[in-house]
Amino acid sequence: MSKQGIGTISVQGGYRPQNGEPREVPIVQSTTFKFDKADDMGALFDLEATGYFYTRLQNPTNDAVAAKICELEGGSAAMLTSSGQAANLFAIFNIAGCGDHVVCSTSIYGGTYNLFAVTLKRMGIDFTFVDPDASEEELSAAFRSNTKAMFGETIANPALTVLDIEKFAKVAHAHGVPLIVDNTFPTPINCRPIEWGADIVTHSTTKYMDGHGAAVGGAIIDSGNFDWDAHSEKFPGLTTPDESYHGVTYTKQFGQGGAYITKATTQLMRDLGAIQSPQNAFYLNLGLESLHVRMPRHCENGQAVAEFLEKHPKVKKVTYCGLKSDPYYELGQKYLPNGSCGGVSFELEGGKDAAKKFMESLKIAAIETHVADARSCVLNPASTTHRQMNDEELKAAGIAPGLVRFSCGLEDTRDLLDDIARALEAC
Ligand code: PLP
Repeated sequence: MSKQGIGTISVQGGYRPQNGEPREVPIVQSTTFKFDKADDMGALFDLEATGYFYTRLQNPTNDAVAAKICELEGGSAAMLTSSGQAANLFAIFNIAGCGDHVVCSTSIYGGTYNLFAVTLKRMGIDFTFVDPDASEEELSAAFRSNTKAMFGETIANPALTVLDIEKFAKVAHAHGVPLIVDNTFPTPINCRPIEWGADIVTHSTTKYMDGHGAAVGGAIIDSGNFDWDAHSEKFPGLTTPDESYHGVTYTKQFGQGGAYITKATTQLMRDLGAIQSPQNAFYLNLGLESLHVRMPRHCENGQAVAEFLEKHPKVKKVTYCGLKSDPYYELGQKYLPNGSCGGVSFELEGGKDAAKKFMESLKIAAIETHVADARSCVLNPASTTHRQMNDEELKAAGIAPGLVRFSCGLEDTRDLLDDIARALEAC
């Protein structure tokens, strides 16, 4: 069969039932699996056979949904995690440990910043945060001999900066490390980072992929393009025997395309247990089935709201890469030619107080710690998701105290614009 389009993969990817099998991905709501012979299960433990023995490591529902996301991103292997936080934790921790170092864009989600700058730092992994718009030379200067990865977000939450993926990939590869890209906001419908050189892609599937505010989840996708063996001294966890797993050498047994995800599953998921429930994977799959239909509508509303706000006298600044005035317009046209996402960030002339009044005056969009939902929602990051950052850190992440993050849902454009216009009158 010829390569299927992104819409067909969204609907039917990952799970292709045989004669008489359920049409929809079945929920295998079972923690465990039955065997007639101890050796049959032993072969699974030894990774000599494929199958399931305990849902903390793998489950058929999760695998089917991960396979769909893998197809959507054009990867070689993928896994689901319990949340986007777990996805980014695993993506880094799978290749970096105590004494290692990672280079990361400053423009990332506040929760990810906290995970990296505080929690992983406590675990001995050092991060250097770099301006994503820095030159290749400046980015290169942040690397050390113990650097194991480079990290960025395709569209950063909430600053909405657009990552120059090719530039980041070039610098990462020149230093012999993979580029990890969090592709939560555009989703593979609008950008496929692997096609631009990213090696590992992560998602908070809680956002557009689920799209209905129903299930927290995450995903990691390996491109299969990074040659771990060529940089064996940096990645011994993948290229030398794992004594905690019967001496398996992941690159030898599972090849370049399977090593990274197999290690993250058999080692990190086994030990840390941040598995997505099969029920949540089922909900996620329902969301994925309409992702290609929903994303253009989110973008249509995002563009209309951004254009409306740009002309409003009470609005100081609008950030949306679909606006010609936006500093990321060119990068947006390159990486996101069909649209970016439904998120629009803006600052009101009246600052933080006006932002609060505006949000409280909305009738359709609700104040929520969430984005990328079918229902529009709104948030002031400085007082909520990013409140752990000091003023300097907020500035580096491109977040003004009065910044409003407006997530355009799937409502009628006219109703959203009316709601915003009314709320602006009140502040
Ligand atoms: N990555 C990005 C870009 C996000 O926006 C978020 C959450 O908003 C996360 C990761 C964390 O995802 P989760 O809330 O599913 O743990």
